This record gives sequence, C-alpha cells and structure tokens, in this order.
Amino acid sequence: MASLIELTACEIAAGVQRQDFSAEEVVSAHLERIAAVEPKVHAWRSVLSTRALERARQVDSLVRSGSVLPLAGVPVAVKDILHIEGVPTTCGSRILEDYRPPYTATAVARIEQAGAISLGKTNLDEFAMGSSTENSAYGPTLNPWDTTRVPGGSSGGSAAAVAAAMAPVALGTDTGGSIRQPAALCGVVGLKPTYGRVSRYGVVAYASSLDQVGPIARDVEDVALLASQVCGRDSRDATSAPHDVPNFRSQLGDDVSGLRIGIPWPFLERGLDAGVLASFRAALAVLENAGMRLLDVALPHLDYAIATYYLVATAEASSNLARYDGVRYGLRAGEAADLLSMYGETRDRGFGPEVKRRIILGTFVLSSGYYDAYYLAAQKVRTLIRRDFEIAFQACDVIALPTTPSPAFRLGEKTADPLKMYLEDVFTVPANLAGIPGLSLPSGLVRGLPAGLQLLARPFDETTLFRAGHAYQARTDHHRARPVL
Ligand code: GLN
Repeated sequence: MASLIELTACEIAAGVQRQDFSAEEVVSAHLERIAAVEPKVHAWRSVLSTRALERARQVDSLVRSGSVLPLAGVPVAVKDILHIEGVPTTCGSRILEDYRPPYTATAVARIEQAGAISLGKTNLDEFAMGSSTENSAYGPTLNPWDTTRVPGGSSGGSAAAVAAAMAPVALGTDTGGSIRQPAALCGVVGLKPTYGRVSRYGVVAYASSLDQVGPIARDVEDVALLASQVCGRDSRDATSAPHDVPNFRSQLGDDVSGLRIGIPWPFLERGLDAGVLASFRAALAVLENAGMRLLDVALPHLDYAIATYYLVATAEASSNLARYDGVRYGLRAGEAADLLSMYGETRDRGFGPEVKRRIILGTFVLSSGYYDAYYLAAQKVRTLIRRDFEIAFQACDVIALPTTPSPAFRLGEKTADPLKMYLEDVFTVPANLAGIPGLSLPSGLVRGLPAGLQLLARPFDETTLFRAGHAYQARTDHHRARPVL
C-alpha cells in the first residue's frame, strides 16, 4: 500500500471507513510530513496537532460505532481567512495577530461534520490581496517545485501544502483567482465554485460580491468529493444559493463526447508565455481526442477585466476593512492621544503596504466626484463581461483558457511593480466578475514548473467542469507529477 501521505482524500475516507487504517494514523502521518518539509515551504500559519489528533480519535470511534462519514479522517489545510472557533485567524495581517474568532466558518463546520480533520491554518497574502503570498505579514510561502519561486496567491499556503503532501486537500478562497492561480503554479487542482455556491459565513470579507470558498486537491475526484460537502444553502449567508448540490463525484464517469469547448483566442494569445501556450494547445488536443468539440468564442470585454476587477475589488475592500479600527478586533495602538489618532495609528501599524494601497484606491473610486467615473463605470463593464459569457455559453458548454500567463515567478520578481502583479490575474478575474465556476488542472511542466489548464462553465454547472476535467485527467498523467523536496 502507498504510504498514507500519498493517498487521495477518496482513498483515505474509504480506508478509514473500512477500518483498514485509522484517522489517527492518517493525521499522524501528515503531522510527520509537516515536521519534515514545512521548514522548506512555510505553508502554515499554525498547525493544530493536539486538536487534530483528538478529532481523529473521535472520528475513529464514530466509525467503529457504525457512523458513515463521507470525509472520514481526511486531513484538511484551512486557509487562515476561514474561522475555526478559538483558533487564531490572522488573515496574514498584523492587525489580527491575536484575534481568536468565537465561531467556526460554515465551510469548515460542514467538512468537519462529514469527518474531515482540520490540520491547521495556511499562509496567505494579507487579507487575500495578492498573487504570490509575498504580502503575508508573516513571510512568504515557497513553491514546493522550486523554493526560489512563489507558490502563487493568495491561497499559496493551501496550494503548497497540498502539492508538498502535507495535506491531501485544502480550503481556499478565490476573489480574483486565489484558488485557481496558486493551484496552477503548484501543480494541483483548484475549484472556484459559482458565486453563492458556498457559504461565506465565517470567512473574513475581502470583496463580498466576488469572494468564494473552494477546494484544492491533487485530482479532480478529490475536489469533487470536497465540493459536495462544502456547497449548499446556509441561512447565515444571505447570498448563498438554494440550488441543489449533486453528488459531483458520482457523475465523473459520464460521457464527454460532443461537449463543446469554446476558446477565446484573441483574448489569450497576447502576453502569453510560449511554453504555457504550448502546454495549453496540447491540453486542447487531449480534450478533442476525448470527443469534445473545439470552437472559437468571442469575449470582447475581457480586455477590461483587470481594470474592472481592481476598481470593484478595492472599492469593496475599502468598505469591508473599515471595521479594523482598534476598537473591536485585534491590534490597538494604545498610546495614542485621542480616538482619531488611535484609529490612524492602529491602521498604519496593522496593515501592510498592499492593503493600504487598496484601501486608498478603493476609497478614491468611491468618493463623490469619482464614483461615477470609476466605480459606476466598472459596474457597467462588469455587466458587459457577464453578458459576454452568457452569449458565449449559448454556443459552448465550457470555456478553456490557461490559468496563468506564465509559470511560477521568482520571489521578489513582481513586488516592486503592483501593476505587473495585478496582470498575473488576467485569466482568472473574469470568472469572479461573472460569478461563474472555474476549475484549474495541472497541464504539464513548462521549464520544470507546473502550468494550469482553466475550464469555465455556466453558473451552477460545476458538474460539467468536473466531467471535462476528469476526462482530461483520465488521458494524462500531469496531475500525478510531484515535486521533490
Ligand atoms: N490576486 C488577486 C488580488 O490580489 C486575487 C486575490 C484573491 O482572489 N483573493 O486581488
């Protein structure tokens, strides 16, 4: 038998349920792996060894007494922006350094209810703002494929933990690509579900009209397994959708012949790394050989997606982050003379430079005089982008594009130029603006580094993404490649 850290979540759940091995053994094996490789990767903000082992023993006794748990004993890495009661949520920020939430996020509660075990909290760009995890106030996470390079972001810790076999699956959040982009750069699979699919209750808000929670894993089947557990209506998040949640995993084997794959060539060819383009073309050939039909689609307004995203997201962030005022949460600058200077000093000391930049930008675009010119215009373009997708999805079932314009870049390579960093998100932000689901899959190595194939579908049609992705994996070995640490 493969060692416990090599097993998929599906294999772990089945093995624990059959009592071939215990949840405690599974958790111990992953804690040992963390002890061995974490010093090279820095994926975690905290590792919850005691809590995890305790919970594992509880799962084992539930299984022994006959309970059937779909995620029995599956260790999960949780991005440090989702709350676990009593465990610090830092959001990678100094301002929340000592903050312990009094409740658990619905997404975490649901998977734990299903037998999963939170191993710890993973590193991220501060408040999920970034594409490299370099914006964490606690130092960057390193890419397990090449530790001189970034893992992507903002869910870089989650993706790196899964790639380095420190956890079989993880939870991340995706506002503009933060699940898909690090998944691509770390050679794992990541899903941004449809907006509203997963409850945002207990998830610290960045840009509320874009934020979504989703799974990261080493193959599509594991992502599907986790998605069926985290998705679904939650009365504590008014934006969560009432739609039925299928057993995604049971639909993976379906026939994919005739599935129409649209490719927006004019949008994606510009500025694309030649190696990534070659990997993308090879992926399309695989889809075609599986019986899918390739066709061209036009998404004319996607050229404005980055500009639109960085107006909408910063506007919402400036409002959401107003709550960190030193009064109710985390850090407080204590020696200030009066209330206003206390606010100012707390925020000045608590927030890092990228978060400050976005609060200032967002406040500017919402200010009277500029609101119509920037924020309102961005909202209108957002509608045009959504319509582009509606029209395209009349002609095709799935849209394919690369997840990122290039493979993992070097630490420090883009930190001096925010615009360069923002351009990293060019292929991922459109799905958030349109609210549609997106799946990133490993599509092979480019100069020894993973590249990602991204598939997009109609709202609430994650099933088609999984079917297409699974068909791709059935014909390739890219998802089986592992970094050597
Ligand atoms: N890189 C994008 C940003 O910096 C997306 C981040 C995210 O999805 N949370 O905003």
